[in-house]
Amino acid sequence: MRGRIKKALSGFYYVDTGEGIVTCRARGRFRKEGVSPLVGDRVEITVSGTEGMVDAIEPRRNVFSRPAVANIDQLVIVASNAIPQTDPYLIDRMTAIAALKGCEVLICINKSDLDHADELCAIYEKAGLPFLLTSAETGEGIAELRERISGKLSAFTGNSGVGKSSLLNALDPRFSVQVGEVSQALGRGRHTTRHVELYELESGSYIADTPGFASFEVEMMCTIAKERLQFDFPDFDKYIGSCRFSDCAHLKEPGCAVTQAVAAGEIGQSRYRSYTRLYEMCAQHKFWEK
Ligand code: GDP
Ligand code: ZN
Repeated sequence: MRGRIKKALSGFYYVDTGEGIVTCRARGRFRKEGVSPLVGDRVEITVSGTEGMVDAIEPRRNVFSRPAVANIDQLVIVASNAIPQTDPYLIDRMTAIAALKGCEVLICINKSDLDHADELCAIYEKAGLPFLLTSAETGEGIAELRERISGKLSAFTGNSGVGKSSLLNALDPRFSVQVGEVSQALGRGRHTTRHVELYELESGSYIADTPGFASFEVEMMCTIAKERLQFDFPDFDKYIGSCRFSDCAHLKEPGCAVTQAVAAGEIGQSRYRSYTRLYEMCAQHKFWEK
């Protein structure tokens, strides 16, 4: 039987088969091979009685390590230009992570009832990254957001106070109930290890979340070679091959097509500044570390 791991706790895997949840253990072979099933994994299981056994893990689209979850289809980056104001650098850092992990992105600019965030919209319009204006307060953009997450496993991320929980609630009021129940059962503040669960919204869309937080805290520490960072900026794509030097880092090199595109206003200043900041961090192997 096939299914997807919705939750993992103390050596048990809760597998959604489409017909219900089967509590499974994993074959010892996995440990020997040094792999462990992850929340989000699509798995092959055998069921005997009320319990099951995870026999095989299907190839993964991606793996996030903190929190540990596999197969995220889409990172929804929630931002706001009202209080709090999101620094575009934060957004660019997340879009680079998404590109690195092979996830789609959706930049969700919330609190549109308070501020239209014209500047942020212009940045991402120019960068060619998908964005959406929403208001959890008035409902603007919620129908479109619902459509954009439909049938996918998404993770919502963004700085605190931008409205992630409010948006998830606007999408489906059962969401906070699900999250609330779990955090109550665990006891507030008692769970120091953040585990992830998949929550299903009414639309057949899944959200990866850490119980009690209503937001996916992407605090992954992963190292990335500075040479590959450029490929995580899709708006640089069409210029990268035209630089004078094939190993151009697009910083101060002569004949750099990327910096020329910035000077000509074809690549946004703010995106380019984020690139140089992230490049600096990659060079020091501090990328993504907080
Ligand atoms: P989170 O930390 O990202 O989960 O943010 P919350 O969902 O807890 O929202 C933080 C505050 O912003 C709360 O007081 C919300 O009521 C408010 N808020 C969230 N979304 C909106 C919105 O679209 N418009 C307005 N005016 N306030 C919002
Ligand atoms: Zn260059």
